Amino acid sequence: MKIAITGGKGGTGKSTVATSLAIELGKKNKVLLIDADADCPNDHLILSIKRKKIKNVFQLIPKWDFKKCIKCGKCSLVCKQHAIVFVKGNYPIFIPEQCNGCKACMFACPVKAIGKDKKKVGSIYEGKKGNIDFLSAELQPNQPSSEFVINALNDYIKSKNKKYDFILVDTAAGTHCDVIAALEQCDIAFAVTEPTPLGEHDLKLILELLKILKIPCKIVLNKSDVGEKKLIERIANKFKIKIAVEIPYEKSIMESYSKGEPVSHKSIKKLAEDLKNGKTR
Ligand code: SF4
Ligand code: SF4
Repeated sequence: MKIAITGGKGGTGKSTVATSLAIELGKKNKVLLIDADADCPNDHLILSIKRKKIKNVFQLIPKWDFKKCIKCGKCSLVCKQHAIVFVKGNYPIFIPEQCNGCKACMFACPVKAIGKDKKKVGSIYEGKKGNIDFLSAELQPNQPSSEFVINALNDYIKSKNKKYDFILVDTAAGTHCDVIAALEQCDIAFAVTEPTPLGEHDLKLILELLKILKIPCKIVLNKSDVGEKKLIERIANKFKIKIAVEIPYEKSIMESYSKGEPVSHKSIKKLAEDLKNGKTR
């Protein structure tokens, strides 16, 4: 079973839930934990896993042959990423950090002056802790999108073709392309949120996305006893989905959280039991 731990808003405790659930499930099952928050991967820190780099991820970028260039500026006109600056009478100037590799400039060039090159956009790491196999994606600083790195991570997982009882995917926050890529082929998603107006707003966004992707979903309500629970209940009713578990704002949980450790709490144990017993479907 492939389970996404996701959420529209950052800082709601996704990584804490994902790592704690991995520890709980890993007591008796084979678990793969994937940290797909490539902008800010931190599950390995919470679990004290020493990561080993297994792969660099590259993305195609254009390469100019100025001997052929006739300074027409068409490449700059078609670049939606504003990665090509063109000043009349000059050769185009390329800003590689902006480029997403769409190849539009290559097709637009009338004299085939643009060939292919590549840039490093990130890396994939692996590690292990007990029954938990661990993979994590990390975006290279200055790169605009982690989608390439997440897609490379998905390809790597498929190529390994290893069997697990549970695959947990800790996605980035939000509803961007990298989150969509991380949600690929997940059987169920837990949307982690907190009972605040911001939590309510961003929960709505991720639930809309999960509805479009047709991924069944349940809510994990973190810090459930502070703020206004009815805000989240209202959204749950609107989308006709259940709150799978409530994690209270307790001292022991906050202590684990502040130390960057996984949480051992009855709410996480319940979630793990429900998953093992198929009650989350
Ligand atoms: S490949 Fe696409 S994004 Fe990159 S420079 Fe060319 S047109 Fe712009
Ligand atoms: S489209 Fe081709 S010829 Fe025109 S400016 Fe760009 S590289 Fe040069």
